[in-house]
Amino acid sequence: MAKAITIDERRVRRLNERDDGPGPVIYWMSRDQRVRHNWALLYACQKANRLGQPLEVLFTLAPAFLGAPMRHYDFMFRGLREVEGNLRELGVRLTVIYGEPGETLPEYAAKWNAGALVADFSPLKLVRGWKQAVASLLSCALYEVDAHNIVPCWLASPKQEYAARTIRPKLNALRGDFLTDFPEPELRYQPDTLPPPMKWDEMESLLQTDRSIKAVPGIEPGEAAAIARLRSFVDGRLSRYADERNDPNSGAVSGLSPYLHFGQLSAQHAALEAVRSSAAEANREAFVEELFIRRELSENYCYYNGRYDSFDGIPEWAKKTLMEHADDRRDALYTPEQFERAQTHDPLWNAAQTELLETGIIHGYMRMYWAKKILEWSATPAAAFDIALMLNDRYALDGRDPNGYVGVAWSIGGVHDRPWVERQVFGKIRYMNSNGCKRKFDVPRYIAEMTGSSQASLF
Ligand SMILES: Cc1cc2nc3c(=O)[nH]c(=O)nc-3n(C[C@H](O)[C@H](O)[C@H](O)COP(=O)(O)OP(=O)(O)OC[C@H]3O[C@@H](n4cnc5c(N)ncnc54)[C@H](O)[C@@H]3O)c2cc1C
Repeated sequence: MAKAITIDERRVRRLNERDDGPGPVIYWMSRDQRVRHNWALLYACQKANRLGQPLEVLFTLAPAFLGAPMRHYDFMFRGLREVEGNLRELGVRLTVIYGEPGETLPEYAAKWNAGALVADFSPLKLVRGWKQAVASLLSCALYEVDAHNIVPCWLASPKQEYAARTIRPKLNALRGDFLTDFPEPELRYQPDTLPPPMKWDEMESLLQTDRSIKAVPGIEPGEAAAIARLRSFVDGRLSRYADERNDPNSGAVSGLSPYLHFGQLSAQHAALEAVRSSAAEANREAFVEELFIRRELSENYCYYNGRYDSFDGIPEWAKKTLMEHADDRRDALYTPEQFERAQTHDPLWNAAQTELLETGIIHGYMRMYWAKKILEWSATPAAAFDIALMLNDRYALDGRDPNGYVGVAWSIGGVHDRPWVERQVFGKIRYMNSNGCKRKFDVPRYIAEMTGSSQASLF
């Protein structure tokens, strides 16, 4: 007999005025692509058990998603294959339907006479647009569950926050309520048989995607790999995190962002594992500051600022100072293609871009340097914003994430930051140069490791 699943109702909200009906419950899995530690799946299980109905999980595959190339689809599809297997063990089938979700999903729900639809949460405009369309066309109830954040985004704050210091007390006030253990998903009603597994290769062939940006070796996708990486981090590198996380050579960071981005790992589960570890408090809390406060601050920005993906979204003081310096002479000027091919005069910048091209990852500290130099060497600040976002989203495995929009907006547009001493090109935006990097880490070693290049000797 399945145990009752308890979920904090503040994590759930209704997106339309329809009632639950007598049909299967469908979990529309989108952002949270995992079976364990997933509040949206758990809520769908709870609903199915209460309504006496089976559960089905549906993934809507749009022909394209914000320019994602094959590198990202490969990571996602391999993770979804694992999700499918894990769901089958629960007696649940995963169906993938191809097309624009706003159209295909209501049709699918009507065809199978769905009793209720449960969606996970994303602050991104495209996904919110899909949900609006689905909510209006559906004849059953649509629920949204924030399964990505520790504190549900809409509850953390009712407005766009200025900085980490303003959201931190709000998130910390709710931390005790929401940083809790997960129940296991259990179902009372299961179909006698499941249809054969999805034909993933056929699905993949339908995509309109840039296939020239290929999968990266060296990082295994999926729920099991995510948990294994979390374990190795918590048992080892976490004990060096506070002191060494800004050193790209130290390997002290978690490397979890691609898993978090694709929802293959729950941030809540990762935070729980970290706070319960034997690492010193300074390390545990430094990690929770990034994973919880900074990450959920990014969600807040995208949720409340509809221009999160544009230069127009940055604060007025930043726009003003950058425009006042828009005509300043640049020491170097590069086209998007030169940036993309890592063809600047700066071996350190080229090493970071090479890391991004070849591994799909740039270390967090280098990401700041990378974006700030794009501002310094682009024709206008708005062009710099677009170039940084384009490169991040095209090559970074964790791209197209609220953290990416905010990372670019922080580095180039002063979002969540404050005015600093005024200087050429940057105006009052915080400056960064390679001397700062030299003080923090062994720059020649980083360049040599990323490029295998003799350019390292220039430093
Ligand atoms: C220009 C720029 C672009 C960025 N693009 C992305 C992106 O596309 N996707 C992305 O997930 N992050 C992005 N970041 C934020 C940060 O650099 C990455 O989250 C981090 O480097 C991921 O590596 P990790 O998982 O090893 O981090 P860890 O240091 O181990 O941190 C653990 C987790 O905390 C969160 N986190 C860490 N740093 C930040 C931060 N500064 N802001 C918000 N959350 C943070 C992430 O979820 C990360 O996985 C960007 C930052 C900058 C400056």
